[in-house]
Amino acid sequence: MKYLTKDLPIEKMPEPAKVYISMSQHIGAPALPVVAVGDKVKKGQLVGEASGAISANVFASIAGTVTEITDIVNGMGQKQKYVVIENDGSGEETFFDEMTSFEPKDLVERIRLAGIVGLGGAGFPTAVKLSPKTKLDALVINGAECEPYLNCDYRLMLERTEDIYKGIMYTARALGIKRIIFGIEANKPDAIEIFGKYSDIETVVLKKQYPMGSEKHLIYCTTGRKVPCGKMPFDVGVCVQNVKTMIAVYEAIELNLPLAKTVITVSGLGVKNSKNLRVALGTPFKDIIDYCGGMADDVVKIVAGGPMMGKALVNLNQYTRKTDSGLLLLKKGEASTASPTNCINCGKCSDNCPMRLIPAFMDSYIQAGDYLAAEKLGVMNCIECGSCAYNCPAKRPLVQSFNFAKGKIREIRLNEARKEGK
Ligand code: SF4
Ligand code: SF4
Repeated sequence: MKYLTKDLPIEKMPEPAKVYISMSQHIGAPALPVVAVGDKVKKGQLVGEASGAISANVFASIAGTVTEITDIVNGMGQKQKYVVIENDGSGEETFFDEMTSFEPKDLVERIRLAGIVGLGGAGFPTAVKLSPKTKLDALVINGAECEPYLNCDYRLMLERTEDIYKGIMYTARALGIKRIIFGIEANKPDAIEIFGKYSDIETVVLKKQYPMGSEKHLIYCTTGRKVPCGKMPFDVGVCVQNVKTMIAVYEAIELNLPLAKTVITVSGLGVKNSKNLRVALGTPFKDIIDYCGGMADDVVKIVAGGPMMGKALVNLNQYTRKTDSGLLLLKKGEASTASPTNCINCGKCSDNCPMRLIPAFMDSYIQAGDYLAAEKLGVMNCIECGSCAYNCPAKRPLVQSFNFAKGKIREIRLNEARKEGK
């Protein structure tokens, strides 16, 4: 289904009348609002400040007046704090000061200040990733974009090649890394050709196979290194970054801009006009759908992200976040609406798991509330790619089950550590 938007240039959506800026657009502690109701804000002004080592600043994406600071249960069913800004139409904007020193520590500090997080979906604060405790020797750029429907990274690779290149060079400098590898799926020959021209980047053509974009698979296919169970890319000397993140790095360093916008693919047979769109962060999904001509009456599922790893929305109280890559409106035939039934032990989930896990067993332990048994079976290594659920004839909600269990296991381990005074 990539054909729907593959050849559509990125279009800039006009700023909405209101934006809803979430304080939780990243992994880690929510940002804390630093504005009050009634405040006038400029585009690019800090509205939420990082509240810990793993957190990120959040900025106004339009100029206007703060009308609310409120908790909203969003389309993913998560209660989050939002700063609501009403557009005053002035377009007033504020910028960071010009950088005068480009030493690694200055680059990392600018990236931290700009609120940049992993824009491939993970949302991990980039400045933390660029301050590893061990020496790394390879920077891997993720140009796989292996999810069906999504083309925002692909379009950015074609349309903002030089900006991505500059972002990569700043990131490599921040890490003190010489070896840069750009992994691009074979179905993007024009992007492969463009980046193949940079002599300081090794371009690796990846097999077109889902989930090639997962960090562990990408690292193995580009460097031959295996990230062991329970370990991270930095344990094998690698830092992985996404192309969109590289543009944010370039904009923060050269254009003095914070992260306040994103590019998403709006697609699916249920939207009138599919598009690749540049949108202000906090734009209501409803406004985006209207801008794309509206949705068909027989849409059965609305998904934030791709069809495999994205989240189906329970309502339209959803607003663009830093990590968004897609908004899909799916009709019957594109998405399953069947209710889950009992597992029939067919083994299809295990056959299709790229991490060689046994999803059916993990799920049955989780349903019984035995999260630690699921942990023993490796649930923490699940990359939530959705391949098991996609192939499950009983339509078991396996990914949701694993995501839930991982949260529970983290909670259990955290409580244990607290008890031990760690
Ligand atoms: S989502 Fe399913 S298929 Fe993917 S890694 Fe996890 S258990 Fe395996
Ligand atoms: S694919 Fe579904 S039905 Fe088959 S074993 Fe796995 S969970 Fe059970």
